[in-house]
Amino acid sequence: MKILKFGGTSVANSDNIKLVKDITANQPKGKTIIVVSALGGVTDLLLTALDLASKQDISYEDYLNQIEDRHLKTAQELFSVQHQSKILSEIKSKLNELETLMEGAYLIGEHTAKLSDKVVSYGELLSSFIISEYFKQEGLEAALKSGRELIITNDNFGNAVVDFELTNTQCANFFKNDTHALTVVPGFVSSSRSGGATTLGRGGSDYTAAILAAATDAEALEIWTDVSGMFTANPKLVKQAKAMEHISYEEAMELSHFGAKVLYPPTVQPVLKKEIPISIKNTFQPEKAGTLITKSLAPEARTVRGISHIDAISLVSLEGAGMVGISGISKRLFETLSQENINVVLITQASSEHSICIGIAAKDAKVAASSLNKAFAYEISTNAIQPVKVEDGLAIIALIGDSMKNHQGLSGKMFSTLGKNNVNIRAIAQGASERNISAVINALDVKKALNTLHETFFEENIKQLNLFVMGVGNVGAKFLSQLRHQKEYLRKELKINVRVIGISNSRKMLFQENGILLDHWDKALQEGQAADLEKFIFGVNQLNLRNSIFVDITANQTVAQSYGRYLSKSVSVVTCNKIACSSDYDSYKKLKDLAKEYHAPFLFETNVGAGLPILDTLKHLIISGDKVTKIQAVLSGSLNYVFNNFDQNTTFAAVVKKAQEEGYTEPDPKIDLSGIDVMRKILILIRESGYRMELSDIANKSFLSQKSLSTKNNKDFFETLVAEEAQFQKLYKEASENNCKLKYVAEFNDGKASVGLQHIPKGHDFYHLEGSDNIILFFTQRYPVQPLIIKGAGAGADVTASGIFADIIRIANF
Ligand code: ADP
Ligand code: ASP
Ligand code: MG
Repeated sequence: MKILKFGGTSVANSDNIKLVKDITANQPKGKTIIVVSALGGVTDLLLTALDLASKQDISYEDYLNQIEDRHLKTAQELFSVQHQSKILSEIKSKLNELETLMEGAYLIGEHTAKLSDKVVSYGELLSSFIISEYFKQEGLEAALKSGRELIITNDNFGNAVVDFELTNTQCANFFKNDTHALTVVPGFVSSSRSGGATTLGRGGSDYTAAILAAATDAEALEIWTDVSGMFTANPKLVKQAKAMEHISYEEAMELSHFGAKVLYPPTVQPVLKKEIPISIKNTFQPEKAGTLITKSLAPEARTVRGISHIDAISLVSLEGAGMVGISGISKRLFETLSQENINVVLITQASSEHSICIGIAAKDAKVAASSLNKAFAYEISTNAIQPVKVEDGLAIIALIGDSMKNHQGLSGKMFSTLGKNNVNIRAIAQGASERNISAVINALDVKKALNTLHETFFEENIKQLNLFVMGVGNVGAKFLSQLRHQKEYLRKELKINVRVIGISNSRKMLFQENGILLDHWDKALQEGQAADLEKFIFGVNQLNLRNSIFVDITANQTVAQSYGRYLSKSVSVVTCNKIACSSDYDSYKKLKDLAKEYHAPFLFETNVGAGLPILDTLKHLIISGDKVTKIQAVLSGSLNYVFNNFDQNTTFAAVVKKAQEEGYTEPDPKIDLSGIDVMRKILILIRESGYRMELSDIANKSFLSQKSLSTKNNKDFFETLVAEEAQFQKLYKEASENNCKLKYVAEFNDGKASVGLQHIPKGHDFYHLEGSDNIILFFTQRYPVQPLIIKGAGAGADVTASGIFADIIRIANF
């Protein structure tokens, strides 16, 4: 004997029922019981219709009509014309009964659990009738047997408990004499000892099948559904989830208890004792192996087998100094809940016994609170216990695996993974079996929590980063193009999957949760919505994706002011915009602190020396205990270019113009020539070296005249450069007469900082600095005489883009 159960989606319409028939027909010879659910969605429709009818809302008829249409259409599509009329009239007669029941509820204006059980059972009664008749039409040797006559429960309508003794006898008697090769049985439905219709709970068709399997000593139970097995996490929420090949009964029970809907929680119990194997198979991909569930397996290398979650949870807590040392409080608490038929999903008790916290379904929270307040009314009135507290909007996530108990550090890994992604944990519980660790979190964080845990425990090798890029001008476009070219390499060699989820320039913005295709991002952006900084921040927060990184490739002040709002949501920030780190010290420090507090890296390597690894090197010096005593640097690629090309044969204005045209200066070259840009850079180096300093503390001996500095536009600025050519020639002449070159140098020494032009003699490290290169000399306690030198290309869109890229890779390894 073999039991096959087909779920709601598997029998949702005529096409699917045809697949069910093919799977059934391909079974090896031998007796088979086919358990079927209602057509997918019909149970919900029935419950909604009844609810509306009992509230005397006539729109219940619309739902009833939908139910009718679904069944009639399915039958019309399945049956040949000569069979149709008999079948359709039987369906209609069942639908008429249903209508009468609904009318009753409508007239009285209420419904009981008993009526609800009766109404809802029509879903399975109709589906099993249609399917058994279709099997017969297709030449299968099938008969229909009502599950009601086989599965007997107590009279607890709405929450019936199976009487296994009676049920097993009924089943044994029936199947002993049943000669059909195939017996179709409706799932979910049962009857009480007195004959009333009862049901086995939502999702209960799985349970029907398991009860029949145990009662008939079946050799196998197959659950056919819409996914290819039990997955490492719900595949609808975690794309990377994989079907598990083989798990134990206990693991399956824990997973389903904690929300893996693919198996109704009580299902395992009846078959476990008899060691009947359960397979979970996909009706739509029957060739897939699916998941096999049997008794305990040899311990596996992987300790965590699956992650599941339960939505719509409330936390109810009972607290008070009067609880300490008093026995019987928990007993009263659980008794009260049990009297109200409230199922407790999770319990935690502080070892101080000062409080007990329980997780229950949100729908039960109100009743739980009022009944507990009543039960503890005396203690509450004497202030020994506080009135019950209820927190809503929560969910439970659980890690599950048989051999978790043999491994230390799993809960640490679980909580630090969640913490890094700003998932706040409200309560924690570990099953006594140590087969699960569960945590209560905000319901809005479920998807992120599942994905990030899945990444930690199952995809140790692949980390996904989600990027939100603001500013796609010269550098931004280069960055995206580098990313596009490197994507495969990153995935294969570094095991990093980088996706760009959001892009914005000053006009348009675009979000795509599954990642923007980098081949055509510019076209997609043009068709995006109007850019809006607030909406962008909102979009990032609302998507709430793990490992999110905000990448600022603008030079915009308002954008720089928004970093705190990302960091405080654990969104990392990578920026080439110098404004945030060179504004007042307190704002800079605040961002650094937020980054620490929320475990969200804040990286700005490109603020100094474009792609050169200057800040990263500095950081490593400092964390390894070194101390910077002096810095000397040429930090402006633009100024270096200008003074490398300026001599007696050129004019200063012409050289600056050329530098501007070749993209070596800011669009407004005065920002470079005035030295302000270099001041910002040395300030950032000083701050990152651990010193407190403001921009106004840096001395700037400008080589520009006051008149030149106070010009308001490029044209006026260039005019002053032309007018003051003699002055620039003088600067050059003085230097070359001394056999020196002119370099714009930033210095930090003895707590003081300055920037300005200097004469650099032959033999000095700065003398041969070519093109737009940068050079930094760090004098530290470890390098007191011979400094640590970093030198290389310090300007240009390509190197800046690759510097941003490097920061992102640093975050991946964080
Ligand atoms: P059926 O109607 O066939 O009984 P269900 O909807 O009850 O199907 O169960 C299948 C669904 O369970 C899947 O479509 C999936 O969304 C959900 N599910 C939740 N967790 C898991 C998991 N860990 N593995 C597989 N499916 C899961
Ligand atoms: N039809 C019932 C439900 O939707 C039972 C089942 O499908 O397992 O809950
Ligand atoms: Mg189900």
